[in-house]
Amino acid sequence: MNNFAFYNPTKIVFGRGTVTELGGLVEPYGKRVLLVYGGGSIKRNGLYDQVLRQLKGIGAEVYELPGVEPNPRLTSVHRGIELCREHDVQFILGVGGGSVIDAAKAIAAGVPYEGDVWDFYARKARVEKALPLGAVLTLAATGTEMNGNTVITNWEINQKRGMGSIHVYPKFSILDPELTFTVPADQTANGIVDMMSHVFEQYFSLTTDTPLQERLCESILKTVIENGELAIREPDNYAARANLMLCGTYALNGGMISVGVQQDWASHEIEHAISAVYDIAHGAGLSIVFPNWMKYVYRSRIDRFVQYAVRVWDIDPAGKSDEEIALAGIQATRDYFTRIGAPATLGEAGIGREKLDVMAEDAVRFGPLGSFRKLEKDDVKAILEMAL
Ligand code: NAP
Ligand code: FE
Repeated sequence: MNNFAFYNPTKIVFGRGTVTELGGLVEPYGKRVLLVYGGGSIKRNGLYDQVLRQLKGIGAEVYELPGVEPNPRLTSVHRGIELCREHDVQFILGVGGGSVIDAAKAIAAGVPYEGDVWDFYARKARVEKALPLGAVLTLAATGTEMNGNTVITNWEINQKRGMGSIHVYPKFSILDPELTFTVPADQTANGIVDMMSHVFEQYFSLTTDTPLQERLCESILKTVIENGELAIREPDNYAARANLMLCGTYALNGGMISVGVQQDWASHEIEHAISAVYDIAHGAGLSIVFPNWMKYVYRSRIDRFVQYAVRVWDIDPAGKSDEEIALAGIQATRDYFTRIGAPATLGEAGIGREKLDVMAEDAVRFGPLGSFRKLEKDDVKAILEMAL
């Protein structure tokens, strides 16, 4: 196990009806609030009205940034920064899925920064301060509600980049599983794939002597697998939605399962390179990439893949070689993604071989990817070819 420090300052308020606590949670940070939201799901399900009632209840002046796109765009972030500066906003509230909350974080970091906020994503500058922000989460997937990561797409240059900073952890996040009842089956599946992928990025590691971290990963995966299918079959099953939501938060919150572990993140980088050109949903891209990444790298450490197959997918090891067990675990992953309706090939997402080279080049812009097995451009291209 490696040395580590783990600090997570986000307060999670979880459960039915917890939006009624919003006013009290925002109040300490000031009265001028920027409300960030997406394309309208919060208006259709009544959450928008509830949020406004809460903010009016504390006498807040509310400015709005609607229309944040899935795969949030730098142009929306710029609009949010301008609004904050114009109205001297004191607090940013993101109400929506990962895209909305990631945009809220980017705005929070961009307001006090003199240069272009993209500098943080282009690795030209580090965040030194940010406006405080909070979240009401409506989709279980990214973990952004309890981490310091944000992913933004710059369409002018076709780049989708992430950055992380302690300064953009939400002060609080409200997680009411009932708010996710209206998430359609495809987005529910995308969220399931995303949270499982976050676990994979931390579980498939060369670090040894981490039995607790490994078992935490395995129990999150098993819980997601069981509750994911249930949530798709029964969208308003509270227990299924609640368990999924908690898994999403545990899967990527700055350390819970990854302390002392060298992480990978190559598959996420490859997915970002695909989304930056084709604007596909993050979870859909991961569903295409991850099982192929697994097939490409499993020999780097076959014992971890054997453990994964046996403990997560209950593959019976009797009479099988390590190779057969590992491959059975990878196949079980693919089959599960297919069962919940997530795509298996680039072709299913309407993507051909035309831009494989551009995407592979973009994925390694800052150097080779990953740590489980270091991937150069040709490796990334080979994985993309496998995904066709
Ligand atoms: P999302 O892009 O935020 O939302 C996807 C779609 O779901 C939107 O059309 C949204 O509609 C809709 N939606 C959200 N909540 C809904 C609800 N309760 N009922 C009905 N529809 C709902 O999806 P996401 O998977 O949460 O976020 C994906 C983004 O996060 C990607 O850019 C990805 O790269 C990034 N990401 C971030 C992290 C991180 O740690 N920060 C980790 C992984 C991925 P509306 O727009 O109308 O609300
Ligand atoms: Fe992700």
